[in-house]
Amino acid sequence: MAETPIRTRFAPSPTGRLHLGNLRVALFNWLLARAGGGEFLLRIEDTDRERGSEAAMHALVAELRWLGLDWTQGPDQGEDSSWRQSARDQVYQHYYEALVASGRAYPCFCSEQRLARMRKRQLSAGEAPRYDGTCAALSLSEARERLAAGEPAALRFAVPDRDAGVWTDLVRGEQHYQPSLLGDFVIRRTDGTPAFLFCNAVDDALTGVTHVLRGEDHLANTPRQLLLLEALELSAPDYGHTGLLVGEDGTPLSKRHGHAAVADLREAGYLPLAVANTLARLGHTLEAESLLDLPELAAHFSLQRLGRGPARFDPGHLGHWQRLAAHALPPQQLQQWLGAVVQDMVPAAEQARFLDGIQANVVLPADARYWAGVIYGDDPSPDEEVRAAGAGFYRAALSAWREHGADTRAIAEAVREATGVGGRAFFRPLRLALTGNAEGPAMDTLLALLPAETIERRLGRGEQLSVTATGEN
Ligand code: GLU
Repeated sequence: MAETPIRTRFAPSPTGRLHLGNLRVALFNWLLARAGGGEFLLRIEDTDRERGSEAAMHALVAELRWLGLDWTQGPDQGEDSSWRQSARDQVYQHYYEALVASGRAYPCFCSEQRLARMRKRQLSAGEAPRYDGTCAALSLSEARERLAAGEPAALRFAVPDRDAGVWTDLVRGEQHYQPSLLGDFVIRRTDGTPAFLFCNAVDDALTGVTHVLRGEDHLANTPRQLLLLEALELSAPDYGHTGLLVGEDGTPLSKRHGHAAVADLREAGYLPLAVANTLARLGHTLEAESLLDLPELAAHFSLQRLGRGPARFDPGHLGHWQRLAAHALPPQQLQQWLGAVVQDMVPAAEQARFLDGIQANVVLPADARYWAGVIYGDDPSPDEEVRAAGAGFYRAALSAWREHGADTRAIAEAVREATGVGGRAFFRPLRLALTGNAEGPAMDTLLALLPAETIERRLGRGEQLSVTATGEN
């Protein structure tokens, strides 16, 4: 028998900015689908109408696309509204009715206050809070009367009274649960909106999702969802719960750690491939140490390598992948990434040469601006080491440069002949006089990029400084 192709999905609630932890979950699901030649779907869980926003949904879609993820079906594909839960009330209604008809769901008239008192009592008695079943005991006719009189009611799922259940979690292995401890839970809120547990499970089943990877914060939902799907005679996906993403201090990644929102990384100029390589290695062991593109990451993805423990986000790792991604960009993409960033500083005709020359020294766009400033901006401020090289050194360097242009080796030879200075004692003051920085692009590159008059001026200035300092001429 042919195996069912893998179908995964990402099912975000658009209630705020997309968080790195959620993006990691999206990526894992995408990689799993790709690794198995399957499909990845995008479903928007926007049933919480007060908190959700249209703008947040569009931002979310843009951020997933920015990372390079794509989906075969989702909310932005044509007119089809079935990928947004807010448009699926009728579908849910059908399943509510089925559950009520089979006696697996009942209206609950308990007020918030009563439920709160009950929770408090249970907690102080050291019990896990759960619904006490009050409304399950109402007769059908009484429930109907109260509903007909317009009394507000939620709908609860009647958890079957039976022995321990078990499922095999894709990440954590066998997981046992006790139905009697769950308590009957709400599947439709008093205001008529569907509860997350319900529509999330129903939609996974109706869209043929085979695998669900999600954060361990959903672990407690899984038994409830399995029971629900069983009652509805719908097939359940295989669930896998990954460890949460935490900051370096071990607490869940949040604003405090910086960079928790994908938009922040994007605005700071991080490249999607750097983010993907970082996330794909967070709580997922990946032996390959080189920068991988998305199809390669998928080829290396395996459920067996997903970790149960919390995954620690280290900004240093992100920096590492960012460096590799920045250095690997082909010219056209480099231009797309940095062109606008340096536009006001670098003459248009020089831009391609400039970007190529500094690429190895750029990690973030701010670095490109820094080098644009060094090369096309103000001269560096006077430096002790520049002075110490002596006027003769700059005279020799300048005349060698006039003769040999950007050929550093020829300049070095000429300067050695004229002054006896070579090696580090040649490179360091020269670099400092030209750029004000002891490190940077190769000397040939700098000499080729710096405008001729700038080289004349900065080497001439080295000479003058030395004269002023030592009286030498
Ligand atoms: N909307 C849920 C969330 O954003 C989806 C959970 C799931 O993946 O099943 O947490």
